[in-house]
Amino acid sequence: MAHASAANPQPSRRRRCLVSGGAGFIGAHLVRHLLARGDHVTVVDNLSTGRRINLPEFHEQLRFIEADLSHALGAFGKGETFDELYHLAAAVGVSLIIADPISSIETNVSQTSALLRFAAERGPGGAPAPTLIASSSEVYGKSTAIPFREDDDVVYGPTTKSRWSYAMSKALDEHLALAYGQQRGLPIVVARFFNTVGPGQVGEHGMVLPRFVERALAHAPIEVYGDGSQSRCFCDVRDVAAILPTLMASPAARGRVFNVGSDRVLTIAELAHAVIRITASKSRVAMIRYSDAYAAGFEDLLRRKPDLTRVRETVGFEPSITLEQTIADVASWISGGKGSPIDWRAVSHPETKR
Ligand code: UDP
Repeated sequence: MAHASAANPQPSRRRRCLVSGGAGFIGAHLVRHLLARGDHVTVVDNLSTGRRINLPEFHEQLRFIEADLSHALGAFGKGETFDELYHLAAAVGVSLIIADPISSIETNVSQTSALLRFAAERGPGGAPAPTLIASSSEVYGKSTAIPFREDDDVVYGPTTKSRWSYAMSKALDEHLALAYGQQRGLPIVVARFFNTVGPGQVGEHGMVLPRFVERALAHAPIEVYGDGSQSRCFCDVRDVAAILPTLMASPAARGRVFNVGSDRVLTIAELAHAVIRITASKSRVAMIRYSDAYAAGFEDLLRRKPDLTRVRETVGFEPSITLEQTIADVASWISGGKGSPIDWRAVSHPETKR
C-alpha cells in the first residue's frame, strides 16, 4: 500500500476504506478525516444510534449503506476489496446496555465476528485487510488500578449484573480480533477509547457532557450522579478520530491494544462547574442518588484514567484540543440545534500529515 511522504506527497491511488458505524459520533468524525485525505469511503450503519445527518448528504467519494453490518458484508460482490477496515459499529451508552442487554451483547459479538471473517480475505488481492477495532475503556471493568495500562488484569462483576455484559462483550471482541491476528495473519489494531466528547455527541444515550451542556444552555439544574467525586478523563473526538488512520498505518501498532484518550483527570462535579462557567449559565448542580439515576445495584466506576505511554511512544499521540475548547464547541453545536453543521476542525497529529 502506498503512503504519501514528503518525497511522494500523493498516494498512488485512492485508498478504499470501510467504516462500520460511520454515521455514529466517533465514526462520522473519522469518515470526514478519511474523505479529507482523499480516500474512497464506504460507510455501513444501521442508524440504530448513528445519524445520517452526521455525514455529508452527497460526496462523490462516500458510499452510504444503511444496513446491519453482517447483511451488508454478505452483499458485497466477491471481488470487492478494501485497503483499510475501521470497525466502530457497536451498541453504545450505559442506558442502552441496561435497557436491552440481549441486542447489545449480540450486536457487539456477532457483528465483530462477521467483520473479522470478512477482513481476513478482503484486503487488496484477497489478502487480509488492515483492520482497526474500536474497543472501550469499559474493558478494564472495575479495576481500581490508576492509570489503566493495556496489559493490566481486568476485573468484572458477576454475570447476574447486566451492566458488565458490555465490558465482557468488548473484551471478547478484542480476544477474537487478536486471535485473527495470530492465527490468520490479520493486520489488526485495537483502540480502547476512553471518554470521548465533542460536537456531534447527543445526550440521549446517557453521555455526560452533552447532557450537562443541554441543561446549562436551558439554565436547568445539572444532574450529577452520586456525590460527583467520581473522575474521568475527557478527550475531544477530533483528536481521537485523527489518530486512528495513523495507528492503522503504523507497522509497530499491529497486533496490539492501545488506550486512546486524554489523561487529564476531572471529577464529574468539576465538569459540571466548568460547563456552567464556560456557557455562562445560571444552572445549579443537583446531586442525584445512583439508585434514582440508574437501575438498582448499578456500579459506577469511581476513577478512570488511561496510561498513554504506549500510544505516545508508538504514534506520537498527544491530545491537542483542550476540554474548555471542546465544551465551548459542544455548546455552540447544541445551541445551533443538534442537526446543525458540526465544527469539523481538522486536527493533525504528527504522523497524520500527508
Ligand atoms: N453522569 C452524571 N450525570 C449524567 C450522566 C452521567 O453525573 O447526566 C456521570 C456518570 O454516573 C459517570 C460519569 O458521569 O460517573 C460519566 O458518564 P458517561 O455515561 O458519560 O460515561 P462512563 O460512565 O462510561 O464513563
